[in-house]
Amino acid sequence: MQLDQYVHTLGRYLKGKFDNKVRKLTLNAAFTCPNRDGTLGKGGCTFCNVDSFSQQSATTPISEQLARGKKQLGNKAQQYLAYFQAYTSTYREVEYLKAQYQSALIEANIVGLCVGTRPDCVPDEVLQLLGSYVMQGYEVWLELGLQTSHDATLKRINRGHQFSAYQDAVNRAQKYGIKVCTHLILGLPGEGQTEVMQTLDKVLAEPLAGIKLHPLHIVEGSILAKAYRAGKVDVLDMDTYAQWAGDFIRHTPQEIIFHRVSATANKPMLIAPDWCQLRWPSVTAVCQNLAEHGGQGANTNSPLIIK
Ligand code: SF4
Repeated sequence: MQLDQYVHTLGRYLKGKFDNKVRKLTLNAAFTCPNRDGTLGKGGCTFCNVDSFSQQSATTPISEQLARGKKQLGNKAQQYLAYFQAYTSTYREVEYLKAQYQSALIEANIVGLCVGTRPDCVPDEVLQLLGSYVMQGYEVWLELGLQTSHDATLKRINRGHQFSAYQDAVNRAQKYGIKVCTHLILGLPGEGQTEVMQTLDKVLAEPLAGIKLHPLHIVEGSILAKAYRAGKVDVLDMDTYAQWAGDFIRHTPQEIIFHRVSATANKPMLIAPDWCQLRWPSVTAVCQNLAEHGGQGANTNSPLIIK
């Protein structure tokens, strides 16, 4: 069962555009995070331990990180997007950003950039820089961590920004022709499926090109790890996740590109849920749900709010 049959995946979109297999190569360019260094907040988002997602060392030159990533992929791809993933990859002066992004774009077979950041860390100068790469014909994605549209939840998970910061960022990015991929988490503390669908409704009301979905998972070193061990936080079981993700995807118009519909983390970093250790079981469960109830866009005329 292929996810591409039911979902407008990033892989399908890139294959159509470049007529080649294009994959993301994850990079770590020694950024930090304003929600950790005290500028915008302290302690970070409650679910976050950046060690759980940055596999590359910040001291390794970008060219070497890219070479390593290409080698690991072997013949699974012919072209690549340089993905500045770790921490807040726009959180430095523009000259530093330019040097980092350029050092990736000059490498062989790099067709564009994905830049992961927070909605409150994309001043116009940064968007102007990214927009200049769009003008040069590169594929450019701004990956904005939002997680939820609900301000009460954003506060609960210590994001340090409100939904209005996201609305401001996506609308400014659009002016520079930059595609935005919004990261959302299903199963956040205090949220049920109704809140998830309300979030979808609100992000679809803004200019949006892509979505990255993942389940709440608890990792070592995060604030939620303590709460989980104290029995104060729950995680979704895989069947519930597949049903919520399936409903979410059915209510999403077909032109929106899904960068991911689930997520993984490795043990011993991953505490829960265990099913997040492997990618395919949850992706298969989501696929099955879509096969049974309809794929992306099937319910775009249905009411979004689940009662
Ligand atoms: S999720 Fe992103 S914004 Fe939040 S603490 Fe981690 S690096 Fe910072």
